[in-house]
Amino acid sequence: MNAGRVLRESGVDTDELRALVHPVQPEQVWLRSASPFMMRIWGSGIQALTVRRWIFVDPRALNGDRAKLGILIIHELVHVRQWSDLGVPGFLWRYLADYLRGRRAGLTHRDSYLAIDLEVEAREIQARFQ
Ligand SMILES: [Zn+2]
Repeated sequence: MNAGRVLRESGVDTDELRALVHPVQPEQVWLRSASPFMMRIWGSGIQALTVRRWIFVDPRALNGDRAKLGILIIHELVHVRQWSDLGVPGFLWRYLADYLRGRRAGLTHRDSYLAIDLEVEAREIQARFQ
């Protein structure tokens, strides 16, 4: 299934959203069910992980409420755009450097994750559609 279809089916496919994830085409972003192994290393509370143009989704979220899935996919599409803007080394470097800055400042794992700039942007855009 592609992300464009999820956006349409959950009623969140708008011009505003398309502009925010430009130049990413949601129809060219693919959703995959996350494996039990992946989900074990994610830790609790994580429902999806984006790697370039692939979004790995907790199967319960993938097969659950479509409106909730649409909101989750908006967050992940912002990450797809970030991967596209920064390139693979750039994305990984910024993500990791931000996380480690938080840890060095004494934040917990969870708070360091939440403080990553790329996550903050994804949550801000996601919140506009909730
Ligand atoms: Zn995220």
